Amino acid sequence: MHLSVRKKLELEAIIGLEVHVQLKTKSKMFCCCNNRDDQPPNSAICPICTGQPGTLPLPNQQAIDWAVMTALALGCQINQESKFDRKNYFYPDLPKGYQISQYDKPFGFSGTLRLPIDGQEKTFRIHRLHLEEDAGKLIHPTGADYSLVDLNRAGTPLMEIVSEPDFRTPAEAKAYVQELQLIMRYLGVSDADMEKGHLRCDANVSLRPKGESQLYPKSEVKNMNSFKAIERALAFEIERQRGLWEDGSAPTTGSTRGWNESTQKTEDQRTKEKAADYRYFPEPDIPPIIISDEHVATLREGTKALPSDVRRRLREMYGLDEKNADGLVHDPGLEKYFEEVVTEFRGYMESAGSPDSARRDWEATKSRRSQSIANWLLNRISTEHRGEHGLPVPATDIGRMLWMLDQGEINAPASTQIYEAMIKTKKGPHALMQELGLEQMSDTGAISQAVQEVMANNKKVVADVKTGKTAAMQFLVGQVMKATKGKANPTVVQAAVKKALEQ
Ligand SMILES: [Zn+2]
Repeated sequence: MHLSVRKKLELEAIIGLEVHVQLKTKSKMFCCCNNRDDQPPNSAICPICTGQPGTLPLPNQQAIDWAVMTALALGCQINQESKFDRKNYFYPDLPKGYQISQYDKPFGFSGTLRLPIDGQEKTFRIHRLHLEEDAGKLIHPTGADYSLVDLNRAGTPLMEIVSEPDFRTPAEAKAYVQELQLIMRYLGVSDADMEKGHLRCDANVSLRPKGESQLYPKSEVKNMNSFKAIERALAFEIERQRGLWEDGSAPTTGSTRGWNESTQKTEDQRTKEKAADYRYFPEPDIPPIIISDEHVATLREGTKALPSDVRRRLREMYGLDEKNADGLVHDPGLEKYFEEVVTEFRGYMESAGSPDSARRDWEATKSRRSQSIANWLLNRISTEHRGEHGLPVPATDIGRMLWMLDQGEINAPASTQIYEAMIKTKKGPHALMQELGLEQMSDTGAISQAVQEVMANNKKVVADVKTGKTAAMQFLVGQVMKATKGKANPTVVQAAVKKALEQ
């Protein structure tokens, strides 16, 4: 008898992503209907987007420009001679019986997206980017024996970005979709809000033994409506398939599965007949789209400030670490403000000495100082403090206040107090420091007097610390801070308490 030792299979996940992005053009893809998504059902429709006989589609130039611009931002090559095609299928939300899409000449192909993941730059390849029109929406009222159709969405411009199967973990897939969202927002082509369906993601998932290069039948996971859902659905699907592999019953055919948010599982979906044949053919009502070299060059101009560029600038010019740089990149308003605040801060640095020495001082300390400025802004400027018009306090005031903090004129808790008072009173930080009595006490004489008093009143704690219970020292520091109404410089207090205990 042959005894088999069950060897644990080492499997890796192969994930590819298809992302749909709804473009925020004023009008729809092939007609003049309003493209806003907050209108009463079936009010933004016309004979063209409802597929009436005899109507002709007219392509939206803005949508084409934005698709090409996005393709350029993703490092794609451009089909300067492109075209639209008909994808034929029947569904109740598709009045024409076909969708105008792009088949063999997408606007963009062979791109890449580079992303910092856990301190390492990873490259994900883009297979293609094309433009198409969306279908309408079916609504199934609970308990009803009928369905409703809303055609407002029919004919709205949709960009589809198909990746190569380059993702190995759910976290990589999530980071990629998050970066795409950010790029759409930086380019201004879509709000890319997942909850509103502006950005939709489907994933193809399969496993294979590590080291192999062939691909196995995959499942297509749909209905992932948030970043969290992407991560969870993929993790679930990988584990499900791992179970099948380990039982010796790896998938032999492809399948379509939907993510069920309430059960946190992917479930088999009965799909339309395997729609292998959409009978694509060139859309006879739209001539080929020719994009000139000059036009490509103009559109490329629009891709000069991408999240990756801003990330690089924050790293190189300010020495920010990945976490702070990323925090600012995700908040373009705050990022701009950060750079203004640093400029102001450097202005105060220069006025405190000669421009030359200030420049040298900045070069030597920029990373540490920029990090603390970025930290301060990211931790304290909450979204609720911001109105329609951006940030609540001029950058010049925050720059000055952070300079005061840097110079030890105030301490960190005082900076928060002054910031909140600035929002309320619109007064400058220096005046508020004086008004609120928040000047930091760095005078060692006054501090050591407070230390002596605290030690005299806490003889037991002092004895504890001296017998080795060093943790009790923080209690004494806290008491001194309290005695000085929080104004003492914590570093000076720490040193003074330590010194007094050694005596
Ligand atoms: Zn229309």
